[in-house]
Amino acid sequence: MKIEHVVCDVCHDMPVKTYRVTHAGRVRSTDLCEEHGKPFAELFNDGYEEARPPRAARTRGGPRVPRVTTMEEIEKLKQDRRKP
Ligand SMILES: [Zn+2]
Repeated sequence: MKIEHVVCDVCHDMPVKTYRVTHAGRVRSTDLCEEHGKPFAELFNDGYEEARPPRAARTRGGPRVPRVTTMEEIEKLKQDRRKP
């Protein structure tokens, strides 16, 4: 009897998930355990609870950029408003 197990490419642990990675036009397939497959799992949120990004990190309409208005800009806005 012959039993074959697929083990993690990095640490030879089980169980594993198989990931197909495309990079620079080349495709590789890799078998990774939960720990070493985490970076890939995070891309898809596919079942690893700790892989989910915290809700606070997500903001509506893209990344939040702090609005900094200088005194010059405020003065310029005031002047623009005075124009007919
Ligand atoms: Zn591993």
